[in-house]
Amino acid sequence: MPRLLLVHTGGTLMMRGGDPAPLAPDVYTQDLLAELPVLKKVADIETRIFSNLDSSDMQPHHWVSLGALVHEALPSYDGVVIVHGTDTMAYTASALAFLLPGLDRPVVMTGAQKPLGDVRTDARSNLVDACHLAVVGPPEVGIVFDSKLLRGCRATKMDAWGMSAFGSPACTPLAELGLGVHFSAHVLPKRAAVSFDARIEERVLAVRTFPGLDPRLLLGAIDAGVRGIVLEAFGAGNIPRLENSLVPVLEKARAMDVAVVIASQCPRGSVDLARYLGGAAASGAGAISAGDMTTEAALTKLMLALGRAESEGRVRTAREAFARSWAGEMG
Ligand code: ASP
Repeated sequence: MPRLLLVHTGGTLMMRGGDPAPLAPDVYTQDLLAELPVLKKVADIETRIFSNLDSSDMQPHHWVSLGALVHEALPSYDGVVIVHGTDTMAYTASALAFLLPGLDRPVVMTGAQKPLGDVRTDARSNLVDACHLAVVGPPEVGIVFDSKLLRGCRATKMDAWGMSAFGSPACTPLAELGLGVHFSAHVLPKRAAVSFDARIEERVLAVRTFPGLDPRLLLGAIDAGVRGIVLEAFGAGNIPRLENSLVPVLEKARAMDVAVVIASQCPRGSVDLARYLGGAAASGAGAISAGDMTTEAALTKLMLALGRAESEGRVRTAREAFARSWAGEMG
């Protein structure tokens, strides 16, 4: 029998309430296996409670502790399943993918739009699928939801109502579950384990560019000590360069060794800073392209890269980090 570790972090899957009281984390008394005994047919499963949070309360230090837990536990199991709220699952999945670059077995995250205790729920199928894929799936940090396995560092929450909560606009699913499981050719191969690096820089901002964004607000953030910014720019990576130009922000950032990464507001397509004057201006002022990465992946990668940077070497370290893929996060 394969051995799995099932780590509970919180989320709707084990919540109670709703209509009219808000859904809230339940006192975690139920054993997931008692609620869903069929899981025992999939694997020999050990459960561990890491936290019992609505994922909107997850913080970067939770990603790091969760990563350390998984890193330490993995050699004793065939795979790990992590139950997590959907709201920030893509951030945690991205952070875990970067914190665990040397995977040789699956780490599968899942959650649900409706609690396990509800009659109409997606929790049962998501959990069964996640456990199955933690046994037979690829050595990646994935998100299993609605009969699909997505690469965690490519996924984003797209739906707060429907059962298909996640999409992965720039990367087709790693696996689709129907009568059987169909795996894609682009799953990552096994990678040798590497030591765990817990360093992370939290003084980072993600800012959506919009018409009227006052550059003084970003200049103020640089004065206040921000170390890195993910700027969600328009289209192919364009920023305003005439009225309310953001170019002086990028120039000041470069002078202060603050890394600015340009992501796109468009879920599909890639940043191409050579295509328009707005992108060329950003590139000329030292901005780094996030390519086709999600904002979740760009932000967590920037936090981890800057955590490893020498002081005075932040922009260089970030540029090197975004020049190559760490876990299949860019195309
Ligand atoms: N607010 C919940 C959470 O992210 C939503 C969910 O679990 O789907 O924890």
